[in-house]
Formats: sequence, structure tokens, C-alpha cells
Amino acid sequence: MSGEKISGQCLCGAVHITVTDPKHEIEVCQCDMCRRWSGSFYTALTGESHDIQGEESITEYRSSDWAERGFCNKCGSSLWYTFLPTGGRSFSAGLFDASINYTIEKEIFVDERATWSRLNGDHPCQTAQEVIEEAKAAGFSFD
Ligand SMILES: [Zn+2]
Ligand SMILES: [Zn+2]
Repeated sequence: MSGEKISGQCLCGAVHITVTDPKHEIEVCQCDMCRRWSGSFYTALTGESHDIQGEESITEYRSSDWAERGFCNKCGSSLWYTFLPTGGRSFSAGLFDASINYTIEKEIFVDERATWSRLNGDHPCQTAQEVIEEAKAAGFSFD
């Protein structure tokens, strides 16, 4: 690992996040929950580790049995998605200036995307059923 660090912040600047060794590929989620949450689609940025400042400005919302979503309670910026079974967390790529040239790793829940939400590129795409089957094969349950 290179030890590369990128820093991001919410719209008002109350929350600062540093991600170490970020993956330079973004996973895009087009599910209907992410659309409602973000207004369009969620762009998941992950890294080896992270550091968060501004805890008092963060609220976490339990959006389903298996996930929590963090947002800035001052400006409303979407901050992160935590998959509770593993504790794995991804951050909204738009928080990080460095991410603007990253590529798309894959796009998921493509069968739920809005007609105005089509992304260019030949990256892999998965439907909701494909995502859920892959997760079940990995041992997770969503029933
Ligand atoms: Zn904020
Ligand atoms: Zn989603």
C-alpha cells in the first residue's frame, strides 16, 4: 500500500474525512433508496482506512436492517453508507476533490435506475437480483 491519503468534506465543512489508500474506482448504486437519499445515485468510494472529524455534526440513519447512512446534520450532505453485517463503510465520492478523475468499477441495481440517470462507459452492470444473489452466495441474508 502506498499510504496515499485523500481528504474530503461536506458542503458546509463541518465534517472532514480522510481516506487512506483509496481505491481509484467508484461503485455506483442506482437503487431506489440511494436515489431518494442522494437525489440521483450513490457513488461509493472505499479505502484501506479512514479518519473522521466533526462527529457532533453527523447523524446516522438506519435505512434498512443491514445498513446505516451518515449525513451532515448541518448541511445535509450524504457522507457514507455502512453495511452493518461487516461494518464495511463506503463514502460518497463527491466529498473528495481527488476522486473526480476516478473511473467506475461497476454500476449496481441498474434495473432500478431512472431514465435520466444513465452513465457512459462499458463498466460492468448488475441488476438487483444479481447483486442479491452474489451477496447470498457470500453468506449474507436479506430476508
Ligand atoms: Zn456539512
Ligand atoms: Zn443503493
